[in-house]
Amino acid sequence: MRGRGVGGGRGNVCRFIYTFTRLFIYLFFIIMEDKSKIVLHTCCAVCGAYLCELLKNQFSEVLIYFYNPNIYPREEYEKRLASAKKLAEIYKMEFVEGEYDNENWLEKVKGLENEPEGGKRCLVCFAMRLEKSAQLAKERGFEYFTTTLAVSPYKDEKLTDEIGETIAKENNLKFLKSVELNQEKKEIWNKTRELARKMEFYHQKYCGCQFSIYSK
Ligand code: SF4
Repeated sequence: MRGRGVGGGRGNVCRFIYTFTRLFIYLFFIIMEDKSKIVLHTCCAVCGAYLCELLKNQFSEVLIYFYNPNIYPREEYEKRLASAKKLAEIYKMEFVEGEYDNENWLEKVKGLENEPEGGKRCLVCFAMRLEKSAQLAKERGFEYFTTTLAVSPYKDEKLTDEIGETIAKENNLKFLKSVELNQEKKEIWNKTRELARKMEFYHQKYCGCQFSIYSK
């Protein structure tokens, strides 16, 4: 009698472990499937390479959005566009090209042509690109958006985070700030440059607009 009791106890323990393991696996997949989707505004493939590496593990879907009407001239735009498309192919991510409405961009920055890089013109330029990225995130039902703009050592990540957060609030979305990547900016820049070299991306010599060509 005692022997059967011990056997029955072992059976219960095994059944408990089996049920618990199945429940754990079930919950694990629910959590994995519940990961959010993000629009990654991409100014160029060089700045986007390491972010793709980081975001692919954090989000269930990353959409690369190339909306950069600031880039001048058109030939330069095409070079950066080609590299951004290649980046999306490498990481098997969806790629969306925004409109190259350079005339509209010029209209928006009118009067700020002589501002230095990092000045008021850049704030308008960042906001314009991030607003469109938020719009796309909303249209596609994505919860998050972010940008590669903060990766470059020439850009102030506090500014892009501030603008991104404001736009996110207005659109009931979340903006992934550069501080949330939990890595030093210098480290991100070094890693992205290394990846970009390996992937042979086009590396531009100036920020993007005609006013930035001779500003360095
Ligand atoms: S310098 Fe760069 S960020 Fe500033 S306005 Fe020109 S393209 Fe935009």
